[in-house]
Amino acid sequence: MTKHACSRRSFIGMAGAGIAAAALPRWAVAGLFAEARDAELVVFNAKVYTVDSKSPNAEAFAVRGGKFIAVGNSADIKDLIGKKTQIIDAQQMTVVPGFIDSHNHASGNTLLYEVLVGNPYEVEFVTIASIVDKLRLKAKTTPADTWVEGYFFDDTKLKDKRALDVHDLDQVSTELPVAVHHRGGHTTFYNSKALKMAGVTKTTPGMAGGTYDRDGSGELNGRVTDRAREVLYKVGKRPSYSADETMRRDREGLAYISKQFVRFGLTGVCHEGGNLRALEEVRARGDLLHRVSYEAEGAELEAMISGGMMTGLGDDWIKLGATFEHTADGSFSERTMALSIPYPGTNSGYKGNVTETQEVLNAWCERVHRAGIQLNCHANGDVAIDHVLTAYERALQLVPGPDARPKITHCTLINDDLVRRIKAINAVPALFTSYAYYNPDKFHFYGEELMKRCMAYRTLLDAGIPAAAGSDFDPGPFSPLMGIQGMVTRTGWNGEVWGANQRITVDEALRVNTINGAYATREEASKGSITPGKLADFVILAEDLHKVEPEKIKDIRVVRTVVGGLTAYRA
Ligand SMILES: [Zn+2]
Repeated sequence: MTKHACSRRSFIGMAGAGIAAAALPRWAVAGLFAEARDAELVVFNAKVYTVDSKSPNAEAFAVRGGKFIAVGNSADIKDLIGKKTQIIDAQQMTVVPGFIDSHNHASGNTLLYEVLVGNPYEVEFVTIASIVDKLRLKAKTTPADTWVEGYFFDDTKLKDKRALDVHDLDQVSTELPVAVHHRGGHTTFYNSKALKMAGVTKTTPGMAGGTYDRDGSGELNGRVTDRAREVLYKVGKRPSYSADETMRRDREGLAYISKQFVRFGLTGVCHEGGNLRALEEVRARGDLLHRVSYEAEGAELEAMISGGMMTGLGDDWIKLGATFEHTADGSFSERTMALSIPYPGTNSGYKGNVTETQEVLNAWCERVHRAGIQLNCHANGDVAIDHVLTAYERALQLVPGPDARPKITHCTLINDDLVRRIKAINAVPALFTSYAYYNPDKFHFYGEELMKRCMAYRTLLDAGIPAAAGSDFDPGPFSPLMGIQGMVTRTGWNGEVWGANQRITVDEALRVNTINGAYATREEASKGSITPGKLADFVILAEDLHKVEPEKIKDIRVVRTVVGGLTAYRA
């Protein structure tokens, strides 16, 4: 136990570091001391992994005003207990900083209101018959010309051991358009009616950014990838709701997913867009349980640019973050990411989908960066990461500024030169987290040689790059413990090991999921570790992730999640 971070002495440290005590008038400093005596919350008798390298282990800490005020040993911290202090005896359970997910679509209303044809949270195999049945039920109450849609499909989580195809979906309906969306977000499976409404036939050519896939005899098989889906988005009707109804649904969806996040120990999440007004209303109603870094796109991003709103505007609960992921290529899990070599095991020469030209990407990056907004592009394949880095390097050269930290969402397949360039411009990659455990059934499409360079936590950390964790929910389950297990073991649900050279330690995985996430949003001074002066976000775990079998990390029970000193979830 280090002595420096305990009881009142650390409060002095906190006042100095956190709120510049020297700059405050003498009476204000004295006032702070008087108030500091009694903590609002004290946690003691715990195994605390602080993720603060100056003082990595502790037994106890105290919270006041939503922040940690002292971290140290149980005896010293108990000095801060007053009449009104809430006391938690952790009974030797493990406490870690609240987990941070640096990339999440936070699609609460999909979870609440849509037909789910796969399990959002866990590995679960389903049958094609179950998918058809669920959608048939939906079709019964669906008006003419209106889409029947299923979500959270995973092509490698089918008991049938064959691909879902257009014929299956024709069994749902021949009258209504039917779509089954892969949870990865880059491929959709359609029925004949949908393809017909969009005018897609077996002779329709693909394009640079997408494909209409065919079966062995050249007929459309219903799978459409990336931008080739745009013509299908334009046809058919989708349910429409009044403005009030839309707001209510979005509020309920956000409140719902907030509960799910804290249930898994997440206290901070980067949201990919979504209804900002609804988010604010959820917060005003007291239903926002986690902190949000809001990554804007579309109208919200345009409003930021035209209104002079830069990254960082907001407060500790809702803050404008980087942009929504600006997409440069296809998907890792759905095998459409842009590779520099043809997909292994295929003879078609297919190298994936580049979804934007270098020129368009350059212009977008320059415009956003000039507006003072943190850049964020989605790039999976080595070709796309190269494109994104080229655009970032250009933007940073045109408008040099300190600490831009452009974000690379996924940053899946790297090589030495890309790592060098990432480091040179201090880009922050947010890699897939739960995939190592959840998606081993897809890695044979790439093979071990490529997988050695995919989700390359070891390589990036060794290069001094603070890789962060981005579940990309819907595509990946967002459980941070599932993510940590995969980072530590590189072993999938089926026992397969892919890219074992990229394994990292439990402590490194903890950093990835906490302080590195805070760094990715430029908030490492206020979040990401159990340090006096930082926001009191922490998780109590029933078992120590350092001590359980690595294959059981994902099963550790989250006992309590605390955000800003207040309990947001209790098992
Ligand atoms: Zn995403």
